[in-house]
Amino acid sequence: MLKTHTCGELSRQNVGQTVTLAGWLHRRRDHGGLIFIDLRDRFGLTQVTVGSDAAPAVLEAASQARSEYVLQVTGVVQARPAGFENPNLSTGEIEVIADNIVILNPAKTPPIYISGATDDIDESLRLKYRYLDIRRPRMTQNLILRHNIVRFIREFLSARNFLEIETPILLKSTPEGARDFVVPSRLHPHEFYALPQSPQQLKQLLMVAGIERYFQIARCFRDEDLRADRQPEFTQLDLEMSFVDASDIRALIEGMIIELCGMLKAKPIQKVPFPVITYAEAMEKYGIDRPDLRFGLQLFNVSQLVSTSGFAVFKNAVEAGGQVKGVVYPGAANGPRRDIDELTEFVKQYGAKGLAWIGVTGAPAADGTYPAEALRSQVTKFLTPEEISGIITASGAQVGDLILLVADKPSVVAQSLYNLRLEIGRRANLIDNSVLAFCWVVDFPLLEYNDEEKRWQAVHHPFTSARDQDWEKLESDPGSVLAKAYDVVMNGWEVGGGSIRIHRSDLQDRLFAVLGLKREEVQAQFGHLLEAFQYGAPPHGGIALGIDRLTALFAEVTSIREVIAFPKTAAGTDLMVDAPSPVTEAQLQELHIALRQRKGK
Ligand code: ASP
Repeated sequence: MLKTHTCGELSRQNVGQTVTLAGWLHRRRDHGGLIFIDLRDRFGLTQVTVGSDAAPAVLEAASQARSEYVLQVTGVVQARPAGFENPNLSTGEIEVIADNIVILNPAKTPPIYISGATDDIDESLRLKYRYLDIRRPRMTQNLILRHNIVRFIREFLSARNFLEIETPILLKSTPEGARDFVVPSRLHPHEFYALPQSPQQLKQLLMVAGIERYFQIARCFRDEDLRADRQPEFTQLDLEMSFVDASDIRALIEGMIIELCGMLKAKPIQKVPFPVITYAEAMEKYGIDRPDLRFGLQLFNVSQLVSTSGFAVFKNAVEAGGQVKGVVYPGAANGPRRDIDELTEFVKQYGAKGLAWIGVTGAPAADGTYPAEALRSQVTKFLTPEEISGIITASGAQVGDLILLVADKPSVVAQSLYNLRLEIGRRANLIDNSVLAFCWVVDFPLLEYNDEEKRWQAVHHPFTSARDQDWEKLESDPGSVLAKAYDVVMNGWEVGGGSIRIHRSDLQDRLFAVLGLKREEVQAQFGHLLEAFQYGAPPHGGIALGIDRLTALFAEVTSIREVIAFPKTAAGTDLMVDAPSPVTEAQLQELHIALRQRKGK
């Protein structure tokens, strides 16, 4: 080794020893006669001191060295003079008095300020010079955290008899609801591999193979339209087990997460065992299937109550099959009108036409009705006293609170109020940041109707089993069938999802039929799976956890790009190596590919 110690390990115990360190020049201060160099490696910082009495060659090297030069320093460890210790640094009690400095490699002035604490560096610059960005201690810490999480998972599962098994990257379409990335085959003209959207079918085949407990830290590829904080390739903990039901998988994963939080010394978990919420309940109370339970503010539903209201906006919405639901903004009854206008604009982004609002400024009369002066609203004049007190009761609002209502079709109401609840949570500082709130969401619908394509499609993926009691209505009432599926949610983010699978080929056939797949299509796409199911497929199920999202949540960073060494931009490009990029005509020829004219050219 070119070093005897790391830059993070020397302490008082080493005083008097001659050591050799190697790393990057983090900072350099020249006090005329006395030069201080903070030498950095992955493990920390050590102060190197070059006195005016140092040998000329040492002085020369110390004065030449600039930020990010690679240096090797030999010297004697000395205690820092009293009053000069740095308690914020693991090596803050000592310094190394340089006897020799070798410049191993000079460096150009980096385009990124590596030693600065500031974080407002343009992200495209960070991505272009990712190798410099990763030198920043913050990024290094994120990668260490990620490593620790993955290592923990491997150990936890290995100790429970799971086998880590690699599955191919060059494969065939494995539908998870996204578009495939395809790779042209040179050896098989006009044919393509698809990169796996997940190892779903392979892990099920491993169950048929008798592996019983499988996992993989698996790279998945999904060619989805650009959405903030999505990556075209991402990493999952992919897992499958035989002879289990949904509660077994949930118990295993819950136990793993709880231990993981302990290992990471993370914030306390809000509730153990994790609350289990049905999909229907999550949609009703939170407008989303991944509720953030770190605060209350549940949505309330007054559709029934206002279905015959004189207020046409409410009545018409319900008549058209829609809903009238709301959320309370605590303490905002007398807030500035500007705030209400802002929130109205806010919900319009999610398709709502507007917000109806009622500020409860005073108490009700003895008969429970609210006198006009106890209300601040533009809609109460259209409502009966019973409707008004009914809405206030349903909302749970107290004097001083503001009630906000949306009337629209269910999907718009859900989207608007889900986002509005979070916005109020942020504005009113209601989100409890001192805890981690996990929950399970269960009983998802098996199928959803795709209005554009006029057909049913799988909510999760087409290998998910219906609940036992629901199979009989698969053909007659597909929309009402619930799945043996479960998601695990952390602070309002879906960090994992899975299901118990179909393991009988007759049931799998029926589901494909309801999905409108023709015999030949089924045979071409899934023939291998249906065939395998005829050779003794055990009951099985599994789950996948998003390693990127999970790490980002523990690192408390807002983007998964912060925990991926070499992520792509939101537009799916790699700015460092410049990908994607054209290939040569010779390559295209070998691949039997002729390019079409670009659209618009
Ligand atoms: N393959 C699924 C996914 O990627 C996870 C699972 O069902 O195990 O979401």
